[in-house]
Amino acid sequence: MLKGKTAVVTGSTSGIGLGIARGLAAQGASVMLNGFGDALEIAQMCDGLARVSGAKAAHHSADMSQPSEAAQLIRDTQAKFGGVDILVNNAGIQHVAPIEEFPAEKWDQILAVNLSSSFHTIRAALTGMKKHGWGRIINVASAHGLVGSVQKAAYVAAKHGLVGLTKVVALETAATPVTCNAVCPGWVLTPLVQKQIDAISAREKIPVSAARHKLLAEKQPSLEFATPEQLGGVVVFLCSEAAAQIRGASISVDGGWTAR
Ligand code: NAD
Repeated sequence: MLKGKTAVVTGSTSGIGLGIARGLAAQGASVMLNGFGDALEIAQMCDGLARVSGAKAAHHSADMSQPSEAAQLIRDTQAKFGGVDILVNNAGIQHVAPIEEFPAEKWDQILAVNLSSSFHTIRAALTGMKKHGWGRIINVASAHGLVGSVQKAAYVAAKHGLVGLTKVVALETAATPVTCNAVCPGWVLTPLVQKQIDAISAREKIPVSAARHKLLAEKQPSLEFATPEQLGGVVVFLCSEAAAQIRGASISVDGGWTAR
């Protein structure tokens, strides 16, 4: 379905981003990975993606907390692969603390990576998509883009901001063949969430398995994690013709979290 298309997935050397990159590659898209990690492992990821897609795969090391690097990621991908047809803004970080103890530099960093980087990549990619006559922008927000939780001031603010940015871009592109939507995962078992599970386990002196159950039971009625593969499937759907008139939507993949 995506043969001949190029996708950029920010923060795709791990977790949800890697699941999305694999989903897009399985449909034949060339993929530009981005994110931190071991060079050898990243090279293996690229090989794996190229094998699955029969197309190209490469990695760009842009730090998404830096506006100029976020824009450069798009320009370099356009130069290397001839364009950016699919932009998935997925890079994200977390810090958990009550607001009086929340370090100001963590606030700045989370807003930069989880929100502002999407502004910079979209701004750099949109003109090319319009020129090519097709485009998909998919912002990985969160259940925390729709509802709040204690101790996550920066994350919740950034993700609500990302949902707002999604709506504005969708309206500005409404009469074009470019769509913009958000995907809002609940808990997905990735390194980002494992850190929170380990913190509960240490704080409450309970086994990791009990901490995992506690984390799910508090928010996610299905009591099951969503998976990176499922998120990849939703992104592929948003790239399909069936989704051409889904614009400015926030699609929850959260086991019922935001249904109550
Ligand atoms: P993860 O920690 O497994 O992966 C994060 C990725 O972002 C990694 O590839 C990392 O290298 C990259 N990254 C971090 N800082 C970066 C930077 N400054 N520049 C470039 N890349 C950077 O996390 P994940 O759980 O897969 O999260 C992916 C996205 O999904 C995030 O936006 C997160 O907020 C969102 N999300 C996750 C969950 C969950 O339960 N895991 C739930 C809702 C939303």
